[in-house]
Amino acid sequence: MTVQTDIDEKINLKALTRQELREFTEELGLQSFRSDQLFQWLYQKGVHSFDEMTNLSKDLRSRLKEIATVPTIEHVRRQESKDGTIKFLFKLQGEGEEEHKVESVLIPDFYPDGAANRLTVCVSSQVGCVYGCSFCATGKMGFFRNLTHGEIVDQVQYINALCEEKFGKGITNVVYMGMGEPLHNYQAVVSSASIITDQLSIGLSPRRITVSTVGLTRRIRQLADERQPFNLAISLHAANDEKRDEIMPINSSMDLGQLKEAVQYYYARLHRPLTYEYLLFDEFNDSPEDARQLAEIVRWVPSKVNIIMYNDVAGVALKGAREERLDRFMQELVARDITATVRRSRGDDIDAGCGQLAIKEGQPQGK
Ligand code: SF4
Repeated sequence: MTVQTDIDEKINLKALTRQELREFTEELGLQSFRSDQLFQWLYQKGVHSFDEMTNLSKDLRSRLKEIATVPTIEHVRRQESKDGTIKFLFKLQGEGEEEHKVESVLIPDFYPDGAANRLTVCVSSQVGCVYGCSFCATGKMGFFRNLTHGEIVDQVQYINALCEEKFGKGITNVVYMGMGEPLHNYQAVVSSASIITDQLSIGLSPRRITVSTVGLTRRIRQLADERQPFNLAISLHAANDEKRDEIMPINSSMDLGQLKEAVQYYYARLHRPLTYEYLLFDEFNDSPEDARQLAEIVRWVPSKVNIIMYNDVAGVALKGAREERLDRFMQELVARDITATVRRSRGDDIDAGCGQLAIKEGQPQGK
C-alpha cells in the first residue's frame, strides 16, 4: 500500500485510493464494510475529524486518531463575479514554506426563469505549473507541488455543498482546467475523478467530468490503455508548430505530429470524441489561415472545438481577439463543417477566467 504520511508519520487517509483504504481496514482487522463507512465519511459527508464519524465505535475512533489523519483543505475566501461565477481560494495543509493555496471556480448556468441549470466546477490539480505557457497566470507562478486526490475532491465537495445550499441542487459537471497540468499529476487526477463518480461519494456520471491537457502524449495513451471513462480536452491554442512553440514550451518536445498520433491512438481504443480548447489571441492565431489549419487538426478524429475569448492577463503581451476577427474565424470553421462553439470566458472581473488563475499573495517563489 502506498500511503502519504504527515509529519507525525500518521497515515493520511485522504491520500489512499478506495482499494488502499480497504487494505488499511483489513490490516486493522476490521470488517470490510468499515472501509465503505470510512469512504462515505470522507467523500460523501466530508467530515473533518474522526469524532464526527458517529457510526464508528468510540474505541475505533480513538484508535484511528492515533494512527491516521483526515486533512481537509480550508476555505479562505470567496469572490463573486457580476456574471454569477464564483472563485474560491483554499489553503492546503502545510505550514510556513509548505503552506500553499489554490483556486477553484464555480461557473453556473441559469434557465430563463433564474433556476440553476449546469453547475460546473473548475478544479486545480497542482500548485503552480511546470509548463510555463506564455499566456497563463498559473504558468508564471512556477511549480510548487502536486495536490493529493483528497485535496482535489475536497474542492469539489466544498463547492457541491455550497451549490446544494445556494441553488437547491448539487454540481453537474467537473472540469480539470484550474491551476496546473492535470496529466502531470496523473494518478491523483484519475483517482480523484473516480472518487467523484463513486456512488458512495458525489456519484457524478464520468461523462460529466472533463480532464484537460496541453498534450502529454504518453499520458493520453495511458488514459486510453486504462479505458478511463472521462472526457478528454486538449488545450491547443495554436494550430501550427511554429506558433505553438512560441506560446507553449511543451510543444518543442511534444509537437503536433506526436499529438496527432496520441489522439488517434486514444480514439482508436475508446471511440470517444475529443474537445479542443482554442484561446483566440488578437492578430496571433485568429487569421482565416489559422482557422483552416485548426480545421485540419479537428478532423484528425471526430472532435469539436471550443473557441475561447481570452481575458487579458497582467504582464502578458497577447490580447484577446476582436469581434470582427472572431466572426471571420468562425466562418472559416463553419464552412469546413467543424463543430465549433464560442465560449465567452466567465468571471474575468474577478480573474477567474481561462488562463487567469494564480495566487498573488502569501505564496513563496516558484522553482
Ligand atoms: Fe500550465 Fe495549463 Fe497554464 Fe500551460 S495553460 S502553464 S499547462 S496551467
